[in-house]
Amino acid sequence: MAIAVSLDFPMFIDGRSVEASEGAWLEVHNPATGELVGRVPAGTVADVDRAVAAARASFRDGRWRNLLMPARVAIMNRLGDLLDERADELARLETLQTGTSYKLRRESDFAFASDNLRFFATQIRHLEGKAAAEYSGSHTSMIRREPIGVCGQVAPWNYPMWMAIWKIGPALAAGNSVVLKPASATPLTTIRLAELGKEAGLPDGVLNVVTGCGDVVGAAIAAHPDVDLISLTGDSETGKKIQALAAGNVKRVHLELGGKAPFIVAADADLEAAARGATAGALTNGGQDCTAATRAYVHRSLYGSFLARTKELFESVRVGDPFDPTTDLGTLISVAQVDRVDGFVQRAKAAGATVVTGGVRPSVAGLPNGAFYAPTLIADAAQDSEIVQQEVFGPVLVVLPFDTDAEAIELANDTKYGLAASIWTRDVFRAMDAARLLNFGHVQVNDHLMVTSEMPHGGFKQSGFGKDMSSYSFEEYTQVKHVMIELTGEPEKDWHYTIFGDPKS
Ligand code: NAD
Repeated sequence: MAIAVSLDFPMFIDGRSVEASEGAWLEVHNPATGELVGRVPAGTVADVDRAVAAARASFRDGRWRNLLMPARVAIMNRLGDLLDERADELARLETLQTGTSYKLRRESDFAFASDNLRFFATQIRHLEGKAAAEYSGSHTSMIRREPIGVCGQVAPWNYPMWMAIWKIGPALAAGNSVVLKPASATPLTTIRLAELGKEAGLPDGVLNVVTGCGDVVGAAIAAHPDVDLISLTGDSETGKKIQALAAGNVKRVHLELGGKAPFIVAADADLEAAARGATAGALTNGGQDCTAATRAYVHRSLYGSFLARTKELFESVRVGDPFDPTTDLGTLISVAQVDRVDGFVQRAKAAGATVVTGGVRPSVAGLPNGAFYAPTLIADAAQDSEIVQQEVFGPVLVVLPFDTDAEAIELANDTKYGLAASIWTRDVFRAMDAARLLNFGHVQVNDHLMVTSEMPHGGFKQSGFGKDMSSYSFEEYTQVKHVMIELTGEPEKDWHYTIFGDPKS
């Protein structure tokens, strides 16, 4: 007898799995097959109110922030352990909802996500402030670093579980309560994360997940008068809307937005290392990465050979069934995203650019409806063209030549974004100079896409502000309080003449 498996993933509010107040559901489809893989509640403003009330109650009575420090550390580490124990099953679910290769999910971002969580568990033990002293002469001043309260968090679809961890890790470590909204295309693993949080020992109401549409649920969280901080990872245009919505109660705002990372190949670069780095940097996760290498500026002396070798490498990337272990590149997030990416490529071609390889929708055996797009390399595009300036968010790399280092830096900085950049060189002076001059929140020398739990990730310019990961991110989720203690006990203070009596001469 067949066993019926429910595809319903209720959202998670106040420690319980719940449906939406209006009872409607949203469908989640597998981009490789088009098949239904789950349904989540279509959350409403009333559901956001419910979640915020639960988060506020948990913050007010201190059931999480006032837990003994070792207990909080243990719960966060336990959640990391549970993620590792369930990694096969969770990575499978992530692959089903994103269409990206199981290899990427299981071996890369899932392993790293639990490390991120354990890193933030260590941060709980390292609250820092300036040293206490008697700055006024008659008072001791000290700093308390405190949680902010209820944190609203809105996540994207490109690395659903990983981005959720980047958000809840520092927020929970700092003692806050959270209302998190996953992207509507990819909510399934985030719901599992909240359930595992309860299993790990997080008290009810501390981690709430509300599913639904961005302009309903996301907007309601951003505008909510009882939410103290709103954090978004998403498109720069969404960031602008959230910033405006957050103004009503002067919320703290933390924005990790779009990117258009330059990849500079200097005249002395190791050509093979640069070509391999460009391929991995541009194509990992189908290029649906805010730090993806998107614009390669190559010294004219290497331009032809770089283009030829990168073309070979692009063509060696195996596009196919996401669950096939020999697949390097699965699908994009949806057929609509393929249409969007292809639109950029076709318009670039019409404007005079050359498609060196790719620019097509490959057919994959057995998956005729899959949202596949071929690794695409483009040359002869103008610096001010759409394909060089706009975020494509697909497996597309544009290659442009340059003649001098100064020109390369100028072209690289010529963007509204400022998230990530890399320079490929064997000259330490050139590397250090580029690190100083590139106007991006993360500059790498001889690598691209690398991140680490201990170091900050975050943008300049329209890539947003605020940092993910590292102690900087932990600080984003705390507020600094100055405590001042009068030391003399005298009823009459020197400064009281300002309101009664005469100044002492
Ligand atoms: P998106 O902005 O469309 O959606 C992000 C989230 O915002 C989703 O949960 C969505 O439902 C929600 N949302 C949409 N409209 C909203 C509104 N009006 N009010 C409130 N919430 C709203 O982005 P996406 O397409 O899911 O993700 C891709 C984008 O994310 C790219 O621009 C990428 O560069 C960026 N990104 C940035 C980083 C980073 O660290 N800087 C990391 C990953 C992705």
